[in-house]
Amino acid sequence: MPAEPAFVIVGASLAGAKAAETLRAEGFDGAVVLIGQEDEYPYERPPLSKGYLLGKESRESAFVQDSDAWYAEHQVDLRLGATVTSIDRAGRTVGLAGGEPVPYDKLLITTGASPRRLNVPGADLGNVLYLRTLPDSERLAAALRRGGRVVIAGAGWIGLETAAAAREFGCEVTVVEPEPGPLHRSLGPELGEVFAALHRSHGVTFRFGEGITELTGSGTVTGAVTSSGEELAADAVIAAVGVTPNVSLAADAGLDVDNGIVVDEALRTSDPDIFAAGDVANAFNSLLGRRIRVEHWGNALASGPLAARSMLSKVAVYDWVPYFFSDQYDLGMEVAGLPEPGTYDDVVYRGDKDSLEFIAFWLAGSVVVAGMNVNVWDVNDDIQALIRAGAEVDVDRLTDPDVPLTDL
Ligand SMILES: Cc1cc2nc3c(=O)[nH]c(=O)nc-3n(C[C@H](O)[C@H](O)[C@H](O)COP(=O)(O)OP(=O)(O)OC[C@H]3O[C@@H](n4cnc5c(N)ncnc54)[C@H](O)[C@@H]3O)c2cc1C
Repeated sequence: MPAEPAFVIVGASLAGAKAAETLRAEGFDGAVVLIGQEDEYPYERPPLSKGYLLGKESRESAFVQDSDAWYAEHQVDLRLGATVTSIDRAGRTVGLAGGEPVPYDKLLITTGASPRRLNVPGADLGNVLYLRTLPDSERLAAALRRGGRVVIAGAGWIGLETAAAAREFGCEVTVVEPEPGPLHRSLGPELGEVFAALHRSHGVTFRFGEGITELTGSGTVTGAVTSSGEELAADAVIAAVGVTPNVSLAADAGLDVDNGIVVDEALRTSDPDIFAAGDVANAFNSLLGRRIRVEHWGNALASGPLAARSMLSKVAVYDWVPYFFSDQYDLGMEVAGLPEPGTYDDVVYRGDKDSLEFIAFWLAGSVVVAGMNVNVWDVNDDIQALIRAGAEVDVDRLTDPDVPLTDL
């Protein structure tokens, strides 16, 4: 009797855990091995910069499955604290640090991304903090609870969310960012300005057009020197300067890698038995007609299950409308699409931008390419439908709050 097939997933976080769940939900009864180098049960990261960081949500609420028993109940062989060191494509095994190789029939790589390190003198001083994991969030919470002056390198999502948290802890916050405004590459200048104003109104100081060139201190950081030459006093520095995809396993195994692991619209790599999903995958999105590598929760949630279906040789097409959410102070918002500078001609608004209750639409000509609802709810599906349709819209009706989005 042939041995039952084994599907191995490397990376036990959101994309990997959701893929394992989908394999079982789709009726796969072979072996499912889910390997992760962290010691924690698979968890979601958004609370680490929001509710969990602020002490408002429990640790358990971050876990992907409601109960740790889920893995055994679904016969998912979860190996925590286990690092995969190699992929032997000819022998169809993955190598484990300090363990026996694990055989696979099909392999899914969901190794995610790691924070880019601050590459300046003094970067290894104490209280220079990064945020990716649960323990990182706990260390950061301990530092913020002490109060004092916090300098944040980077005005991207992590930089801004940690700025909001630091203000809630009563810290004095300065954000240093080389771009002309926050979220510049993900939202463009128009909406970036909304976030700059929001944070300023909560007492955050920005230094745009400057980068951190050196961290000073003896043992523990006490200052951050910027490219202006000025030294900012700091009791803690948060390095939020982006992430890099964890591609080394794939690259060493000879898979195509280019800003992530290159996969087709079925999330298959250049090896037909190996798949990739989540932050690590640079995937062909058939709706957008180009490859995208997205570092968003919604992408891990959608692409993990999609890759699982693809492993089962079911029809699976990555035509996902990019989706992202963030919460900062009392502003909650969702973005659909990828409103990067250069992809749109104009931004128009439905509702009152100044009262922070509005929808922004990014237009290419009169086609909606992205939309963001700010403190307005239950509309993101409609915004996604507009993006998916790709049709020209009447901009007067688009911006008229009395016209239902579904009528456009
Ligand atoms: C603090 C924080 C807040 C966020 N907030 C939001 C938000 O509000 N909205 C939003 O849309 N997105 C948010 N994100 C992004 C979102 O969390 C990520 O897009 C998502 O975690 C990606 O999931 P993933 O499974 O692809 O990868 P990851 O979550 O990076 O997980 C990859 C896993 O693989 C493991 N691994 C790597 N290499 C190996 C190896 N060789 N062997 C074994 N295991 C390995 C890693 O240890 C890790 O556990 C946030 C991210 C962070 C860090």
